[in-house]
Amino acid sequence: MNNQETQALWRQLPGVDRLLSLPASTPLIAQYGRDLTVEALRAVLDEQRRHIHDGRLRLTEPDEYIAAAAGWLAALIAPTLRPVINATGVIIHTNLGRAPLSQAALDAVQAAAGYNTLEYDLEAGSRGSRFAHAEHLLQRLTGSAAACVVNNNAAAVLLMLSALCCGREVVISRGQLVEIGGGFRVPDVMAQSGCRLVEVGTTNRTHLHDYEAAIGANTAAILVAHHSNYKIIGFSGEPALAELAELAHGHNIPLLFDQGSGALLDTAAYGLDAEPLVSDSLAAGVDVVAFSGDKLLGGPQAGILCGRTDLVALCRQHPLARAVRPDKLCLAALSATLTAYLTGRATRDIPVWRMINRPLAALAAQVEAWMAALADVDAVVESVPGFSTVGGGSLPGAQLPSQLLSIGDISPHCLAMRLRRSDPPVIARIASDRLLLDPRTLLPGQETLLPAILRAAIAACRG
Ligand SMILES: *Cc1c(COP(=O)(O)O)cnc(C)c1O
Repeated sequence: MNNQETQALWRQLPGVDRLLSLPASTPLIAQYGRDLTVEALRAVLDEQRRHIHDGRLRLTEPDEYIAAAAGWLAALIAPTLRPVINATGVIIHTNLGRAPLSQAALDAVQAAAGYNTLEYDLEAGSRGSRFAHAEHLLQRLTGSAAACVVNNNAAAVLLMLSALCCGREVVISRGQLVEIGGGFRVPDVMAQSGCRLVEVGTTNRTHLHDYEAAIGANTAAILVAHHSNYKIIGFSGEPALAELAELAHGHNIPLLFDQGSGALLDTAAYGLDAEPLVSDSLAAGVDVVAFSGDKLLGGPQAGILCGRTDLVALCRQHPLARAVRPDKLCLAALSATLTAYLTGRATRDIPVWRMINRPLAALAAQVEAWMAALADVDAVVESVPGFSTVGGGSLPGAQLPSQLLSIGDISPHCLAMRLRRSDPPVIARIASDRLLLDPRTLLPGQETLLPAILRAAIAACRG
C-alpha cells in the first residue's frame, strides 16, 4: 500500500473520543477507569495503524475496536499467580507453590488479615514481639528451649550463621557443600554471612577426626547440612549428630544443623525413608536447627530456628532479623498448621500429610471413576500403576505406590498443552508417550472438575 493510501485509511479510523462516547465503552470505563480505557483504545488504534501500513485491514465497526480494547484490558489485569490442579503426583511441588495450606491455616490467614496482635501485648496494652508467635507451639512439638520464625529456611540459615559465626570459621563436611536448588548453595550462604568455610573430609566420607583436626581458636561452630535432595549410596559415611554434638561441646562451640524439610512426624511410619525429626536432632545435642515451614511441615513459606535460648536470642537481635521477619499471614498459617500436629490432626487436616497417607485403594477408585466418566472419548484411557513422590527436596528417590489415569493414542504434548491452557490449568506428567494424571495430589473438590477438562482437551487435540 502506498503512502497516500495509508494516510487516507488512517484518517478513517475512529477517534478515541468518539469510541469513548459509545455505549459499549461505558462498562469498560466503569470496570477499569477512564485513563486505562483510553490507554487501551489508543493501543488498539496504534495496532490498526500498523495493520493498515502492512496492508492488513482488520477492524471496521467501532464496537470491534472497543471489544479489542476489552481484551487488552482483561489481559492487563489477569493474575500471573493462578491456582492450578496439580496432577503430577509430586506432593511438595517446588514450581507449583510447595505445600498447599490446610483449611484451618486458610481460616487463620483470613482472620489475621486485618488488624491483629502481631506486635501488641493485650494484657499490658503495649508493644509485644512478633517473634513470640508460634514459639510455644514449636517448643512443645520439638522439645526446643526457644524458637524463632523468619521468612524462609534460606533466611533462617543466613541469619543463624550471620548472628552466631560472622567473622569466624565454620567447619563443614565436603559431602555437604551442596546446592539445594533455586540458587541456594551452602558455600555461598556461608560466604554471605561473613563466616569462613573450613571444609573437611571428602565427598563421600568424613570422619569425626576430620572435624576434630579442623577445630581451632577461631572456630565459631560446626555446621551440618541435610542431604535434602540427593543421596550418596555405596562407600560413604558421616559421623552421627550426637558424636558431632559431643565434639563441638567439648570445644565449647555449638553444633548447627540446616535440616531442610524438618519433619515433625515420622516419615518411616508412612512407608517412606526416615527423614530426621526436629525433636531427634535437638535430643541428639544440636544447638540450633533450621528448617522450612512449607516442605514436610505442610504450612506456609517460613524458616524456623529451634534451639538454645541464648543462641536463638542472638538470632532475633541481629539486624538481619528485621530484614527476614515473617508477616502476619505467615505467622497465622504456621500457628494453625502447628496446632494440627499438637492436637493429633496432622494426617487428617494438613494436605501434605493427607496426601502421603492416602490409601492406594482410594486412589484406584478415583481413577476408576474418571475412566467411567471418560468411557466414550476418542483416546485410550486406562488405569495404570505408578508412583507419586514427596518432592520439595525431601526424601530423594522415595516413591509412594499410586494408581494413575493414563491417556494414550493421542499426542501427549498436545494434551498437556491444552490442559495447561484450561481454566483452571491442569499440570500432568508425560511418560512413554502417554499422559499420566495422579489423583494423589488433587485437593478436595478438584476430582469432579477433571473429566470435563480432559474431555475438552482431547476434543481439541483431535479437532
Ligand atoms: C529447602 C532447603 C533450604 C532452603 O529452604 P527454603 O525454605 O526453600 O528457603 C535450605 N537448606 C536445605 C537443606 C533445604 O533442604
